[in-house]
Amino acid sequence: MKKVAILGSTGSIGTQALEVVEKHGMQVTALAAHSNVEMLAAQAKKYHPEAVCIFDPAKTEQLETLLMGERIEVLTGMDGLCEIASATSHDILLNSVVGTVGLLPTLKAIEAGTDIALANKETLVAGGSLVMKAAAEKGVNIYPVDSEHSAIFQSLQGNAMNRIRKIILTASGGPFFGKKKADLTQVRAADALKHPNWNMGNKITIDSATLMNKGLEFIEAKWLFDLDPSQIEIVVHRQSVLHSAVEYEDYAVIGQMGVPDMKIPIQYALLYPNRVECPTQPLSLTDYGSLTFEKPDYETFDCLRAAIDAITEGGLRPAIVNGANEEAVGHFLRDEIGFLEIGELVRAAMEHVPGGEVRCYEDVLEADQAARSFVREKLANR
Ligand code: NDP
Ligand code: MG
Repeated sequence: MKKVAILGSTGSIGTQALEVVEKHGMQVTALAAHSNVEMLAAQAKKYHPEAVCIFDPAKTEQLETLLMGERIEVLTGMDGLCEIASATSHDILLNSVVGTVGLLPTLKAIEAGTDIALANKETLVAGGSLVMKAAAEKGVNIYPVDSEHSAIFQSLQGNAMNRIRKIILTASGGPFFGKKKADLTQVRAADALKHPNWNMGNKITIDSATLMNKGLEFIEAKWLFDLDPSQIEIVVHRQSVLHSAVEYEDYAVIGQMGVPDMKIPIQYALLYPNRVECPTQPLSLTDYGSLTFEKPDYETFDCLRAAIDAITEGGLRPAIVNGANEEAVGHFLRDEIGFLEIGELVRAAMEHVPGGEVRCYEDVLEADQAARSFVREKLANR
């Protein structure tokens, strides 16, 4: 059985991954979280990893106390995440932290030659060119966990020699589907946190409400599958049953369907290429009756257009849009800004923060920081 290390084990993806791990008796070599020491310690006691990392240094002592006598190494900070990512005691690293903070550990895992199950989409949005180039050089496989990208990956199986015309990237439309800007002026974090189909972490739930999530996924797809942005079509599909599809040269469209449950793509990434029973429900198409497909509303959802513009321009532009979004979403979650301001701030950063080429990790980090500072300054001066 494969051995797995999980960064972000206390989150929505991380905890579902542990259900999959448990179902198949996989061995866990390392676990990491940001600050949820209680849950991390409980997971460590249950799965007996060699090491755990708590990112927040203020929580290290508490974790050490909770794990007294367990013979588990306790790490902290970015150094700790990178130490886990660089270790070679696991066969696959699941990167399910949230945000750009996931980029460096991804690069470290690639350096170590370890395959990655990648949920952390911000990694590819900010540093896609670096990640894909390094992975190709090292022969490292990146298995997508994001349900749409897993669906595309599954639809590509057995078709290595065939030309792709386009990718159909499906979007649920989020909780504000059908609304116009005038309807969204009073939206608060609590309203945006109610997603119709998926139960996810706060940041991605807000990204789903602004449709930034689909913009980030557009960029993620470009990098994972080496596509031109013109080859990606976003289609709103409210039921989240068709998780995405590939159109080939002959106009045959091959897609993947299933209930909206992340355990299916998580398991496929962890156990690829095996298909074994997953701890989820079967799909009953007749329960759904009909599936619908519509065009996205780019007028209302500014973030989506900003992300597509960013990857079309290329270079550091996606890292800027991503950094600005992460900062803006943080303010929105604290009820400091309105819903529509997220898109306005992202668009402003997209237009005003200087871009340039992506030569190395530091370039990406700098662009990310510049975008965040831009948003903070804009808010301080309003
Ligand atoms: P959550 O907010 O639920 O979980 C995030 C996890 O990452 C938690 O374990 C958190 O720890 C940990 N974490 C955050 N920052 C750090 C850090 N600096 N160092 C170490 N650990 C950290 O997010 P999700 O699980 O929803 O999402 C994770 C990623 O997967 C995101 O990039 C998201 O876009 C992507 N994704 C998620 C999907 C979903 O269904 N949830 C679907 C597709 C993609 P702590 O608990 O201590 O804060
Ligand atoms: Mg997705």
